[in-house]
Amino acid sequence: AVKTAGKGHHRFFQPALFETIRHRRELEQSLVTALEQDQFLVVYQPRVDTMSGLLCSMEALVRWQHPQHGMVPPLEFIPVAESSGLISQLGEVVIEKVCQQMARWKTYGLELVPVSINVSARQFGRGDVHRVLASALARHGIDARLIEVEITESAMMDEQNRAVEQLAAIRALGVRLLVDDFGTGYSSLSQLQKFAMDGLKIDRAFTMELGRSEQGEVFVRAIVSMAHALGMSVVAEGVETREQLDMLHALHCNEVQGYFISRPVLAEQMLELMLKRFLIDHPAQPRSHPHT
Ligand code: C2E
Ligand code: MG
Ligand code: MG
Ligand code: MG
Repeated sequence: AVKTAGKGHHRFFQPALFETIRHRRELEQSLVTALEQDQFLVVYQPRVDTMSGLLCSMEALVRWQHPQHGMVPPLEFIPVAESSGLISQLGEVVIEKVCQQMARWKTYGLELVPVSINVSARQFGRGDVHRVLASALARHGIDARLIEVEITESAMMDEQNRAVEQLAAIRALGVRLLVDDFGTGYSSLSQLQKFAMDGLKIDRAFTMELGRSEQGEVFVRAIVSMAHALGMSVVAEGVETREQLDMLHALHCNEVQGYFISRPVLAEQMLELMLKRFLIDHPAQPRSHPHT
């Protein structure tokens, strides 16, 4: 974020900062255009049950199909959407697209797989995320129990936006709540309980440490036992290797997500994965595939 000097402090504009600001203005303007011209798209990344290898959910991840720059990743425009106030509109677009897609999958006669949607702290600003969700679910005939909302620890504790009340309102719809990037913030056990979170997603940084350092395993083991004691399920993010997967399986982590299983894919490719259902094989837990 662009830093502003505090009261009483003078700071001269550095050329780099000036460049940044000009770039941000341009980006802001093209985000407005992108919203008008429907340049956003949602990709989906599967989440798999560690024990069974079954597809159990998927995460919706937004992409910007820029006419000149191609696919722009969210980390390059979400912060600008947040600081410019466009995030609620963008958030609405994502919710709408996800529900639309789920309704489409439903017409294929498939049993729907739950989808998780990322909501950032700033999206709580207008205080109507629960209404946006309720409206989209109703219009597309989607069961709220098939939707999960992912929020980071800091978003969860954003008092200014009264996150507590808003999360309660979202949960009252029947939507499940997951803590995203868990382990990178400062939430306490009591907060996790107070917010009635349904599950935790262990940040990729911890998954990466598995097999590399003793600490990685210690952290994951501690998080899993804490989460289970509080009645929450655990997803490991950023699983890239077989070794990590096997360790997470041994550590009783409920679900895994990451490039080892699949990269985020377009809705059409997701359909193939939904038909396949079993996305990993466990040599440790041999089982028969009913489809093959
Ligand atoms: P996140 O919610 O923690 O999402 C996980 C990110 O890790 C995604 O990046 C995903 O593509 C990436 N990833 C998944 N598996 C692996 C792996 O095995 N290795 C590595 N290196 N990366 C992996 P992506 O799609 O670029 O999204 C980045 C962040 O942008 C997300 O982090 C989330 O905070 C935010 N974001 C994405 N979509 C939305 C959205 O619709 N709304 C909001 N508010 N934020 C979003
Ligand atoms: Mg997420
Ligand atoms: Mg995450
Ligand atoms: Mg993240």
